[in-house]
Amino acid sequence: MRLNNPKKILLTLLFKGKVYREELLNELKISHSTLTYFINNLISNELISVKTEKLFSAGRPKHLILLNKKNWKSLGIRVGREVVSLTVFDGYFDELEKITVKITKEHLGNKNLDNLLKNILLKLTYKDSIKSIGIAFSGNVIQNKIFSYILKLQNYDPKITINTIFPKSQITILNDVEAIATEEFIKHGGKKILVINYGTGVGACFYESHGIYEKSERKVIELGHFYAGGKDNCYCGGIGCLETIASDYAVLKKAKLIDLNISDFISNEEKFENKLDKIRNLYLTNPEEAEILYSDVFKILSIYVLNLFKLFSPKKIILSGEGVSPWFTEKLQEKLSLITHQKIDVEFRGLKNNIEYGASIDSLREYILNLQI
Ligand SMILES: [Zn+2]
Repeated sequence: MRLNNPKKILLTLLFKGKVYREELLNELKISHSTLTYFINNLISNELISVKTEKLFSAGRPKHLILLNKKNWKSLGIRVGREVVSLTVFDGYFDELEKITVKITKEHLGNKNLDNLLKNILLKLTYKDSIKSIGIAFSGNVIQNKIFSYILKLQNYDPKITINTIFPKSQITILNDVEAIATEEFIKHGGKKILVINYGTGVGACFYESHGIYEKSERKVIELGHFYAGGKDNCYCGGIGCLETIASDYAVLKKAKLIDLNISDFISNEEKFENKLDKIRNLYLTNPEEAEILYSDVFKILSIYVLNLFKLFSPKKIILSGEGVSPWFTEKLQEKLSLITHQKIDVEFRGLKNNIEYGASIDSLREYILNLQI
């Protein structure tokens, strides 16, 4: 798709937050007067605003260009096994409203989850003027339908319900690790990143940016269901998946804190919250014991992380999710340095990622591309 200059300006503001007039001139390679024309048009459509920065020394004042704060409301939704979270953002990506609801067994399945989603959406105060909605699921997105073992979703289409409440908004559907990768690209930069999400499930996403105006390449990787040589049946229907031998579930089982198969664990995850907490924080009180319990996780995970690294050659690897910690990151990095001479940069992010923000950005990008300007 060929982008016109107004769309390029909006995309630049979406991805960079704010830019000086000079940066846009360099980026778009147009004359001062042409840029002024586009900027005035965008201002009169209430899409952008311009702030004049006062200078203390002599010289022309600098013009900072931003998205219109009031007019760019977006909604990011995260649907994971532990919670459903909704955040409404303004044009500066400040949070206007946030609702979080815990997910229990009763909420799983197409019908139950759809009802839950509907109830939360109706509670939002900012229902009008939401330009776009991005919804990120722990599951696979195939032709805009969700398939998720952990949420018990089969061919689920969230657009039907969202459309009834937000008929005018642009909606995009994505995988939660894709949303994390989108956020990582914007907030922390990098042309090629690999995000590994380690929580109740284990997933990954490779993100390669070709610049703001081109569609980025994203590859969702079902890391948790790579064959890893185990013997147990997995909830996905496979045997010996990575998640059965290198995950929170595997560690809980090894510590003899649970005696369950992985399907029952996934269905009743909320029952194990305290035990999961204990295991995830064991390194703080007893690092020796933690190292023994997690030894298989590091051994197996390092093999798969290294292979993904060789396959995609990302500039950095981000570790996100509720199951990782600074200690976990350090140990994984140590293990990797024992099996390769290649320098692999692993960064801890844990729960600091804002999946709703990543999902919002994704939906606004689509909104801008479809805008009639
Ligand atoms: Zn599996």
